[in-house]
Amino acid sequence: GRVVGVLALQGGVAEHARMIEALGHRPRPVRRLGDLEGIEALVLPGGESTTLHRLLTAFDLTKGIRDAARRVPTLGTCAGLILLATLGVLDVDVERNAFGPQADSATARLPWKHGSVVAAFIRAPRVTRVGGGVRVCSTWQGGGRYGAEPAIVGVEQGEGEQRIIGVSFHPELTGDTTIHRDLLD
Ligand code: GLN
Repeated sequence: GRVVGVLALQGGVAEHARMIEALGHRPRPVRRLGDLEGIEALVLPGGESTTLHRLLTAFDLTKGIRDAARRVPTLGTCAGLILLATLGVLDVDVERNAFGPQADSATARLPWKHGSVVAAFIRAPRVTRVGGGVRVCSTWQGGGRYGAEPAIVGVEQGEGEQRIIGVSFHPELTGDTTIHRDLLD
């Protein structure tokens, strides 16, 4: 199994760690620079992206996370996707809170590449621009309330160890391991 760093400053850390363990890998909470040494994959959980950016700065982790995301397979979920976009490692633009407030939280089965994934949306962002090297893996109609066109909610960039997956939703909250298996297998 891989040693998987899970950014553990704020947000849904424990759920990701459980899922990583269930798949036979070794989660390692990342709170300081040294925790990134030797990791073989990286997960940036959901939470609140403004707070996460502040904490990354306060803990002097911004550069370390950026470098790690370029070096090992990396997954960002929800606020984690926003971090990947704003750190400049994933070539997309995002719109925060694109599907309404907490009360509009929803669960949906979405396409994921050739299969599907059960996804939970909580104040989720959507992807508003994808760069040339970015593949769209998931779209969501969002119940139709937030635009007529399906929104982009799952993307992938790069190959092999440089792969970066970003999803608007929380796969770790539905018990669906599709995205984590895709990252780690
Ligand atoms: N709305 C949050 C943000 O903009 C993300 C929500 C989440 O991670 N569940 O950072």
